[in-house]
Amino acid sequence: MSDNVAILEGFTQEAVASCDATDLYLLIKPGTDLDSAFRAWDTDEQEFITVNGWLFTFEFAKPETKTIVRCPRCGEPIWDVAKNSKLNKCWNCMLAFDSMEDDDNE
Ligand SMILES: [Zn+2]
Repeated sequence: MSDNVAILEGFTQEAVASCDATDLYLLIKPGTDLDSAFRAWDTDEQEFITVNGWLFTFEFAKPETKTIVRCPRCGEPIWDVAKNSKLNKCWNCMLAFDSMEDDDNE
């Protein structure tokens, strides 16, 4: 068993659950109701556990610091980002635009 098992089942959100007695390093499903009893992957014990969410306070690991490109016209996040062909494409309003502040290497 490894974290991959949990991730493949949709437990993709890293979270630290803290109470007076302990800290749990968890993977949970995005959108989990943290005030309920929910299933989570314990990354220390490498097993699924049930967390009584109301007993804990939660901290979430920062999502990867990846700049989200947004369409300058409609503000939609761009998934069709510039790679080799220099233009981002907004499939919401069909705008193609340069990635000005893209400091990635060629
Ligand atoms: Zn747009």
